[in-house]
Amino acid sequence: MFNMNQNKTNFTRTSDWLAACGKEPNEKNLSLQFGCHLEELMEQIDEVILVGSVSDNESLEMAATRIKGIAHRLKTGATGIRIKNREKFLDALCDGEVTGNGVAFMANMDKNEADRRVLATNDMKLVNGKPVLSPGGKIMKPPGWVAPYLGDCV
Ligand SMILES: [Mg+2]
Repeated sequence: MFNMNQNKTNFTRTSDWLAACGKEPNEKNLSLQFGCHLEELMEQIDEVILVGSVSDNESLEMAATRIKGIAHRLKTGATGIRIKNREKFLDALCDGEVTGNGVAFMANMDKNEADRRVLATNDMKLVNGKPVLSPGGKIMKPPGWVAPYLGDCV
């Protein structure tokens, strides 16, 4: 099957998806998206254990719990962010993608295939190019939508 997304970068696929969902760049959506980003980073931390030091592990868990609280407040609009230095911020975002890919490589994971599945299932949240919205305006998962299976990529 021809996939019109196959030559797009992950960034363009994501920005196209957000635009289709009516999420234009503004301060409120930036804060919400940063909350989502922090939440995913904390989900990474939830899935590792620091071996050899109980107190390091406790510190990491405590830090993650506190950052999850901030992420929730960003997602609900209770707080917001302001970028201090846009160039340094973009550099950190790009480097974070590089290091994340490096972690997947070092963990022997098939991130290329996992990325394809995650982005494809994200696209499947759109019905005829439009998001399914709740009465409150939240993007919903359409009936029959299933989360990507990554069991054979690990
Ligand atoms: Mg997640």
